[in-house]
Amino acid sequence: MSDVFDVVVIGSGPGGYVAAIRCAQLGLKTACVEKEPHVGGTCLNVGCIPSKTLLHASEAYWKLKTESAAFGVVAKDLQYNLPQMMAYKQGVIGDLGQGILGLFKKNKVALISGKACFENKETLLVASQGTTRKLQARYFIIATGSQPMALPFLPFDEKKVLSSSGALERSEIPRRLLVIGAGVIGVELGSVYQRLGSEVQYVEFMDRICPSFDPQVSLALQEALTKQGMQFLLSSKVIEAKVEENGVVLRVALPDKTERSMQAEAVLVSIGRKPYTEGLGLDTLGIKVDAKGYIEIGADFRTSNPHIFAIGDVVDGPMLAHKASEEGVAVAELIAGEKPSIDYTLIPNVVYTNPEVASVGLSEMDAKKLNLSYQVGMHAFRFNSRARSAHEEEGFVKILSDKATDRLLGVQIVGAHASELIAEAAVALQARKTALELGHLCHAHPTLSESLKEAALSIHKRAIHK
Ligand SMILES: Cc1cc2nc3c(=O)[nH]c(=O)nc-3n(C[C@H](O)[C@H](O)[C@H](O)COP(=O)(O)OP(=O)(O)OC[C@H]3O[C@@H](n4cnc5c(N)ncnc54)[C@H](O)[C@@H]3O)c2cc1C
Repeated sequence: MSDVFDVVVIGSGPGGYVAAIRCAQLGLKTACVEKEPHVGGTCLNVGCIPSKTLLHASEAYWKLKTESAAFGVVAKDLQYNLPQMMAYKQGVIGDLGQGILGLFKKNKVALISGKACFENKETLLVASQGTTRKLQARYFIIATGSQPMALPFLPFDEKKVLSSSGALERSEIPRRLLVIGAGVIGVELGSVYQRLGSEVQYVEFMDRICPSFDPQVSLALQEALTKQGMQFLLSSKVIEAKVEENGVVLRVALPDKTERSMQAEAVLVSIGRKPYTEGLGLDTLGIKVDAKGYIEIGADFRTSNPHIFAIGDVVDGPMLAHKASEEGVAVAELIAGEKPSIDYTLIPNVVYTNPEVASVGLSEMDAKKLNLSYQVGMHAFRFNSRARSAHEEEGFVKILSDKATDRLLGVQIVGAHASELIAEAAVALQARKTALELGHLCHAHPTLSESLKEAALSIHKRAIHK
């Protein structure tokens, strides 16, 4: 006997659960299959949310320790309580997971626990605790996400060799932490450990950190993190690793062709993530994956089988929760006969360090690659009165507009609350505003957002506070 649905979604991460809810809202009988005992996927359980919770907690401690005396707040006998921090994080995860379950109930999405595998193009087998259930559907949406990549000679043991998941679940803080890979996840988790007392050293293959961002942005972030005590070995490669009783020893090839040995109690390997399709039975259906393992799809999220769609981290594109969710909504609307579209150039990209980094649209690096004729405006937060009042003067806003039309091309922000400020830039880009129009918009005073206005005005040499 099979249960019959209009749509079955595989995976309950931000791609899958959002797709399932939107399908149900559109009147489709929908089920969502999840192999883990909890919903929410990587983002909620071992990604965005636990990392932001620990970043928040560690920042509160670190600011009191290093900064707040400057504005007259002195904390004596300051301590952090790691078990309580971890318990708080689990509490947040638990509450938000309950929230998703509540939304499933409200929207009548059937949650089916177990690991899904295609039997054929109409039937999915869901295995759980020795039993197998058959689900039939007109459409399937694969939203099975991704998993951390390991180095071939350094498998994760989550004790001394940590993936991001292991780094989010520690009962002690190592005296020294080596981080392989200074991308977004590496610098966020490294920040948590550095604030809590680890000496944090990075080995990065590229010549700058967070290389998906504008070089000026990467450099500003690197300078800020270096000031906080983090150390970066760039253009360097880990070529050998030994796990010993007291920790891990890495052999690192440096850019000057010499080698260096580095030792620490633990190493975090954050060299990227790879799509997860294990055991899904894609071969049975002839669904193609590319050389990196991403499921191949067309512009309408369809795999090589027109009734089976794929979204989120399991398909090529930025591995971001909000990108997965946008695709979840779009694929549901497409199945329901609507004509959704996503503007991928308007997907914001954020690093939640201190200072934060956020970007939307084209960076200067992109504009150069595209051979565009552009103009640049900048405003440093040290000229912003709110930033000065809040002791948050690091960073800047950088705006690019088209040289001929002044239409906004992209915005990069390094600074406090950049993750929130970037939304205004995204709205302005979507509304196809010019830099001058953004500059003419009245912004409340004193706010950090005034730096967006001033950066836009500075393109036309009209900025006041410079
Ligand atoms: C440490 C860290 C921090 C991050 N921070 C951010 C951030 O701040 N902002 C941001 O936008 N992104 C962040 N990300 C990335 C974000 O988590 C992912 O982009 C997002 O979770 C992808 O969503 P998804 O729905 O495609 O897949 P996932 O969230 O990975 O969900 C996939 C789900 O499918 C389930 N599944 C897989 N195979 C099967 C099967 N055969 N049967 C049943 N279920 C299955 C899995 O168990 C999982 O629950 C972070 C990631 C990490 C690791």
